[in-house]
Amino acid sequence: MRVMSTAGASAEAAAPLDPAAALTVLPGVGPTTAARLAAAGLSTVADLVQWFPRRYRALRELEAPDESATGELVRLEASVHNVALAWLPGRRAMVTVTFATASGALFLTRFFNQPWLRKNYPIGQQRAVEGVLARKSSRWVLENARILPVGADPAGEVQLRYREIEGVSAARLQNWIATALRDLDIARLQSSLPALPTGLEAHDDPVEDLLAAMHRPADVAVHERARRHFAVREAVELFAQVERARRARERRAAQAFPVDVELAARVLARIPFDLTADQDRALRAIWQRLAGPAALGVLLQGDVGTGKTAVAVGAALAVLAHGGHVAFLAPTELLAEQHFATVSTWLADTDVRVELLTATTRRNVGELGEFAGPLLVFGTHALLTKDTLLPRLGLAIVDEQHRFGVGQRMALVNKGNNPHVLVMTATPIPRTYALTLFGDLDAHQLRERPPGRGAVRAVHVRTEQWARVEQSIRRAVRRGGRVFVVCPAVGEDGEKGGAVRVHRTLARAIRGAKIGLVHGRLETESRQAVVAAFRNGDLDVLVGTTVLEVGVDVPAATLIVVVAADRFGIATLHQLRGRVGRGSRRGLCVLCGPKTPRIAAVCATVDGFELAEADLAIRGSGELLGTAQSGFVELRALDPSADLELLLQVREAVRGDPR
Ligand code: ADP
Ligand code: MG
Repeated sequence: MRVMSTAGASAEAAAPLDPAAALTVLPGVGPTTAARLAAAGLSTVADLVQWFPRRYRALRELEAPDESATGELVRLEASVHNVALAWLPGRRAMVTVTFATASGALFLTRFFNQPWLRKNYPIGQQRAVEGVLARKSSRWVLENARILPVGADPAGEVQLRYREIEGVSAARLQNWIATALRDLDIARLQSSLPALPTGLEAHDDPVEDLLAAMHRPADVAVHERARRHFAVREAVELFAQVERARRARERRAAQAFPVDVELAARVLARIPFDLTADQDRALRAIWQRLAGPAALGVLLQGDVGTGKTAVAVGAALAVLAHGGHVAFLAPTELLAEQHFATVSTWLADTDVRVELLTATTRRNVGELGEFAGPLLVFGTHALLTKDTLLPRLGLAIVDEQHRFGVGQRMALVNKGNNPHVLVMTATPIPRTYALTLFGDLDAHQLRERPPGRGAVRAVHVRTEQWARVEQSIRRAVRRGGRVFVVCPAVGEDGEKGGAVRVHRTLARAIRGAKIGLVHGRLETESRQAVVAAFRNGDLDVLVGTTVLEVGVDVPAATLIVVVAADRFGIATLHQLRGRVGRGSRRGLCVLCGPKTPRIAAVCATVDGFELAEADLAIRGSGELLGTAQSGFVELRALDPSADLELLLQVREAVRGDPR
């Protein structure tokens, strides 16, 4: 990787670059590259200079490779000891440069597909090298190494990394950014940026300095100041959109579905248990808003097992009682099927038509929307496809919203004639996300759990102790409980840890128990049959993939075993343990595999919100970008793990801004 150079300034007195110009104005950017850049959202010179790198971690300076620094980003001063070129299969060149530190310790760096590099490093030359320290077959290696130019001032403490763009090397990208920064018509860019709302002017600086500080900062403080400036701009754009969405919703006159005392009593009588105080409060708030005049937009947040479904059904019933249509969108077929099965029994012997609409059951779509009476349709994203129109849609419910993007939510809204919208999420999301993804909605929380349903403790068991896991399963089954076993893959060819193989192992090891297998590759009917058999007790143990993750509700389940738990994220593990302890008996979750920080976090707390924060801390915000992007704007400078204060400040300013 080359460092950016501003040097190449061959004093061409070309006209300054128009920020709005297409990227093909840059030397070396042809139509193919331009298309690749466009796919990443980069079309103009202005986009390019605002393609911000992330500061990813502090760098540690070492005298010599050191066990305690493995996995860390380090910088070493060393002299070139040896350079070798090897050809790998497929005519891939590999240049290995071996360095020796002052104390004589050796470490390697490797570069692929750049055979000419071997000429760049004369033996004995002193260089500073940065990379991630690793130990490979008893040798020290700096991975993703960067050999700094001779005499480079290695004092820079800010480590920047650009998001990868498919088919465009980091070095080329950085060169283009450097060129663009050098030749940019800065005044024009400056004047094209919207003024910041009142109260946020303090964040303003000349954009030239800010851009330089984003791409090649002198120190952390300078970079951070610039980052905050652009974060404020992003947040302003974000909340402008959020507010637009909110106002659009509030302006939309929606059909009113008033709930009087008599109707409330009838609805509550349909739910086969007494609501908790939290459920009751949330439901009544929703009813109130359903009475109009504007469209309801509610985010219902509650940890796994707090009983969000009942609140949603209570809201649905208010609409159904007035003859309206309700769509209930679930992230997986299994979950849609389960909601359909449960609620069908709650609504048996009413005039409500309850339907299931998934990829496999799509045949009856056409006439559904035309149905004249009350209709409750459960479905997956198949509900979102174009040909499904629900003109009489009064309420759209989106379960586990974090699995859908804002765009999908909007798509559902557009299916009907200004429906009310209720969005639910169990994965407790950090507040920054609530603001960035759901800022246009009114939030309600379920904190309390239904009586007798404690949170479920997780324990860790190492893979070598699998016998203990089998013991626990045997014990649970003997006591009449039911057991989930979740695997990271189907493993059709019988690989280790795959559901197929685990199923076979358990069938042999736990004699007398009835053990079923379920995964996404099964036909809907057989999958439904297996889950039903498990629910009604014809099976004791259900082995499956993460199709079991979200929402599956089998009150008799007391134990869940997660195989290769290190391969799952925190949110998934937390969801999975929510599958047990839903009946009167305590549940237990066994996480099997090497003990990772994620597993440790899940074992350490049962609180979903604490876990969400831990997740953010472990993953760092870089990885969370994928999620953030599905929100209103793409976040480049905003850091969801750090900028809560900033977001709140900007939200205030934007709301108070008359524009
Ligand atoms: P989640 O919030 O994770 O979607 P569910 O809606 O699936 O939770 O509810 C979890 C379990 O608790 C279900 O078995 C449900 O029937 C039960 N449940 C929900 N509310 C109550 C309540 N108020 N009293 C008793 N059981 C309840
Ligand atoms: Mg649920």
